Amino acid sequence: MRLQNKKVIITGAGSGIGKSSAILFASEGASVIVNDIDLKKGSETFARIKEMGGEAHFIQADVTIPEEAKLLIENSIEKFGEIDTLFNNAGISGVGALDEVEVDDWDRVMNVNVKGVFLPSKYILPYMMKRNKGSIINMSSCVAEVGLAKRAVYSASKGAVLALTKAMQVDYAPYNIRVNAILPGTIMTPFVENYLKSSYADPEEALEGIRRRQLSGELGRPKDVAKAALFLASDESEFMMGSPLYIDGGVTFGKNA
Ligand code: NAD
Repeated sequence: MRLQNKKVIITGAGSGIGKSSAILFASEGASVIVNDIDLKKGSETFARIKEMGGEAHFIQADVTIPEEAKLLIENSIEKFGEIDTLFNNAGISGVGALDEVEVDDWDRVMNVNVKGVFLPSKYILPYMMKRNKGSIINMSSCVAEVGLAKRAVYSASKGAVLALTKAMQVDYAPYNIRVNAILPGTIMTPFVENYLKSSYADPEEALEGIRRRQLSGELGRPKDVAKAALFLASDESEFMMGSPLYIDGGVTFGKNA
């Protein structure tokens, strides 16, 4: 029970990495606020945790809308009395070289991936500062470090999250609040399945290309990232501050011959 008595909010917990993290955290004793913009997906994660005998609430909210992000935090605190960890996981993909990116798509991706980290953090920090305690986990990506083809706006958004993580850590270290980032490689989730289908004429060939660029020879699984998030949410990582944690099958630092 590595998260016994921990109260956690996970944004975008209706699918993929967020869902896997919510289930793993609950199985390790955490009380979990499952957030998602999608009612059906969020309810499914909530139901899974309840079936396991875990403690959870589902709060539907769009983390890009200030009023909804504020309510998410206020309602979470009302339900659990306090929040130990905020996992800013919600995010969307954006494919294309820069000249191919539509202006609306740029705004949409930056809005979810960057503003969606800013807003829940902004509203929870005053509570964490008052408690003199807290942990925030921000979802970045290995594309914050490595240039990958046709990922212009997505890379910009995840680079912003990594830089923001470091800046936040400096400001809130005096309040005993830790802020770290997770940088996954390619993880097989609905997010990746969708962009393979929508961006490539031959999704199978594209998938092979992704396998080849990872030293692991295979894509990651949501639970690989969930286990890293568990470490950051627990006190086991208490000396980790403002750091990127890579869970990437070797894509960032290795190079296939
Ligand atoms: P996913 O699409 O399976 O899940 C994302 C969830 O976020 C969905 O349930 C979606 O409804 C929710 N969401 C989207 N916009 C929202 C909003 N405005 N408010 C609240 N919820 C919202 O994706 P995933 O692959 O599990 O990705 C989770 C995070 O991990 C994202 O930030 C993504 O960028 C990041 N990431 C994923 C990979 C990968 O290969 N899958 C790699 C690196 C980083």
